[in-house]
Amino acid sequence: GGGDPAAGGGGAATAAAVATTPAALSPAAALQAERDSLPIAAYKAELLAAVATYPVLIVEGETGSGKTTQLPQYLLDGGYRCVACTQPRRVAAMSVAARVATERGVRLGSTVGYSIRFEDCTSEETVIKYLTDGMLLREFLSVPDLAAYDVLMVDEAHERSLSTDVVMGLVKDIVRFRGDSLRVIIASATLNAAAFCDYFDGAPLFSIPGRRFPVDILYTRAPEANYLDAAAVTVLQVHASQPAGDILVFLAGQDEIEDLEAALRERTAGVGGALGELIIAPIYASLPSEQQAAIFTPTPPGARKVVLATNIAETSVTIPGVVYVIDPGFAKQKAYNPATGMESLLVVPISRAAAVQRAGRAGRTAAGKCFRLYTKWSFTHEMEAQPVPELLRSNLAQVVLLLLSLGIDNLLAFDFLDAPPPATLLRSLELLYALGALSPAGKLTKRGRLMAELPLEPLMAAAVVASEAYGCSEEVITVCAMLSVSGAVWYRPKAKALAADAARAAFSRATAAAGAGRGDHLALLACYNSWRDSGFATQWCYEHFVQVRSMRRARDVREQLDALLDRVGVARATLADAPDGGADQAPVLKALTAGYFSHACQLTKAGLYRTVKGGTSVHIHPSSALYRTERLPRYVLYHELVLTSKEYMRSVSEIDPAWLREVAPHYYTEVDVDVVGASAKMPRALGRRA
Ligand code: ADP
Ligand code: MG
Repeated sequence: GGGDPAAGGGGAATAAAVATTPAALSPAAALQAERDSLPIAAYKAELLAAVATYPVLIVEGETGSGKTTQLPQYLLDGGYRCVACTQPRRVAAMSVAARVATERGVRLGSTVGYSIRFEDCTSEETVIKYLTDGMLLREFLSVPDLAAYDVLMVDEAHERSLSTDVVMGLVKDIVRFRGDSLRVIIASATLNAAAFCDYFDGAPLFSIPGRRFPVDILYTRAPEANYLDAAAVTVLQVHASQPAGDILVFLAGQDEIEDLEAALRERTAGVGGALGELIIAPIYASLPSEQQAAIFTPTPPGARKVVLATNIAETSVTIPGVVYVIDPGFAKQKAYNPATGMESLLVVPISRAAAVQRAGRAGRTAAGKCFRLYTKWSFTHEMEAQPVPELLRSNLAQVVLLLLSLGIDNLLAFDFLDAPPPATLLRSLELLYALGALSPAGKLTKRGRLMAELPLEPLMAAAVVASEAYGCSEEVITVCAMLSVSGAVWYRPKAKALAADAARAAFSRATAAAGAGRGDHLALLACYNSWRDSGFATQWCYEHFVQVRSMRRARDVREQLDALLDRVGVARATLADAPDGGADQAPVLKALTAGYFSHACQLTKAGLYRTVKGGTSVHIHPSSALYRTERLPRYVLYHELVLTSKEYMRSVSEIDPAWLREVAPHYYTEVDVDVVGASAKMPRALGRRA
C-alpha cells in the first residue's frame, strides 16, 4: 500500500519536466532529453564497465548529477536484474522512486518501488528498489546475504548516517562470500570520498565531473540574534529586490519551518500588486507526500517560490529552479552522552562541508547567490570542517541488538568506518541486559530476538513485548503509533487557541479521572480511541482540533504494528476485555515503563525533575499536557529529550515508582530505590519488594 500519495509526486515531476523543455517534444521524449543532459549520462558505458570490473566501486559526483535516479536504471540496461539503492531519509526514498517510475513510465510500486518503515511500496515485479538504510538493515535479518539483489547501491554515503555506516560494515563482509554475484556501489556527494576507498580496501573511485555555476557568497557583518527573523527578512528582501529565481531556505526542523511559514504569510498578506506572488513550499520528513510534491511544481511566471527545507535538501533531494539559498547555519542533530546514557535532539551549527553543499544548491542551473546568516569569521573559525558521523553521537542499543541478532558477537572487532566509543557500546549492552534482551553472559535471549524482529527502537520494542503480560498490546501499539506522529497531533489555530486547548485538555482529563497516569501517553491513546469510535471521522478531527493527516498516518502505522504482533507472536489483548472494562489504564503505562524505565524522572523539592538514574536535570516540554499543571506528578517517564536551552522531556506521563523495581530490577538497584524512597516519601516497601 501507500503507492497512491507518492504517485502524486511522480505526476508533478512530469509536469516539471514538460515545463522546462520545448513544447514540441512529447512528455516522454522531454523526460528522455532531460535524462540525457545530466552530467552522468556521458559516463554510462564507462560506469557499467567499472561496475563489471570491480566488486566495490566508489562513485562521487555533485548533487544533481544523476547518481541516484540514473545509476540504477543504467544497471538494468547493463543486464543486472535487481538493484537496491539505500537512502538515509525516507522522504528521499519516496520522492526518488516516484521520479524514476515517471521516467520509466511505470506505476510506482511495480518495477520501480520503495520501502520505508511502515510502508512497503514494492511488488514481485520490483527490480529497482529504493529503501531506507534502516530497512536494508532489517533485510539482513531475514536474508543475511541479500541474495535477492545483484547490485547494492549505498547512496548518500557521505551523510554517514548511523544505519548507512552499519550497512557498509555488513556489506564489506558479504562482498567476500557473494563473490561475483554481487556488485556494490558506494555513492557520495563530492565530500571525503577517498575515505570510502580506503575502507573498502582500495576500491577505485569514479568521479563524475560536475557542472556548476558560480555562487556569490554573502555573509552577515555581525552575528544574528534571531536567525528565523533574519531568514524572514532576507526572503522578503530577495523577493523585493532580486531578479527572478526561487529561494531555498535551510532550517533545523518542522517547528522552525512552520514558524517561518507563518511569519512569511503574515508579512506578505497585505502586499501584492507590484510584487509577484510568493509561493511557500515546505519540505521535511513527516510532511505528507502529496504536499511534498509542491516543491517540484514549476513556479508560474511572475511568481517566486520559496522552499523551506530541512537539510534533506542539502544533498538528497534536488529542487529545480533554485537561484538563492538562505543558510542560517544550523541543523537538528542527535547527541548522545554515554556517561548519562541520555540521547537528545539539539540544534547545532552545521559544518563547513555542509555549508558548502548548501551554497552549491544555488548554482545548479544558473549563477546564484547564497546568503549566509552568520559571519565569515564564524564560518572559518567556529564551524567544524566535517560533520561528526551519527554513529559517534548515538545510543547504539538498536545497532548492537541487530548485530547480535546477526550472530556478530564480538562488537569491538566489527569493522566500522569510525569505531564507536567503547563506553557507548558498553552502555548499550547494559541497557539491553536491563531490558531483558541479553543474558548475563551477553547472549541474546528469546525476548531479545522478539525485540529485534520489531522495527522499533529497543525501548519501544521492549514495551510492546511486555504489553502481552499486562493484557494491553492493543493499547500499547496505539500509543506507539501516536507517538510516531506526536509532534503534529494537536492543531492550535491562533484565533481559536482557547477552544483548542480545552479540546485537548479533555483528553487528559478523561484519563486522569480514570486514576492513573496523567500525561501525554494516555491522552494520545484517548484521542486515538475516541477518533476510532467516531468511525475515523474527518469531522471528528475538526471538532476536536486534531490534525486529520497525522491521525491517518497513525492509523497506518498502527495497522502495520498490528500485523507485526502476529509475526513475532505477541498476543493481541485489550484492556476493554478486563473485568473493569478498561477503566484502569495503569497497565498501559506499566508496559511502557517496562521499556522506558531508563527514562524515569523524579520531582525534586525545588519543583524540578531529575532522572532517577544519574540525577540529570530535565524539564517538561511546553508541548506536554503536564506543562503548567497545578500538581506536578512526583514521578514521570518521558518518551524523548529535546535539548534547546535546557533538556526538555517531550511526551511525558506520570508513573508509580514502585513499577521501576518491578519491571527493571537489574537497572534500579537498592541504592536507586533508597534514593527513590527518601526523596519523595514513596512507599518504603519498595526496598523490600525485591
Ligand atoms: P544525484 O543523486 O547525483 O544528486 P539525482 O539523480 O537525485 O542526482 O537527480 C538528477 C536530476 O533529476 C536532478 O537534476 C533533479 O533536478 C532531477 N530530479 C530528481 N527528482 C526529481 C523530481 N521529483 N522532479 C523533478 N526533477 C527531479
Ligand atoms: Mg542523490
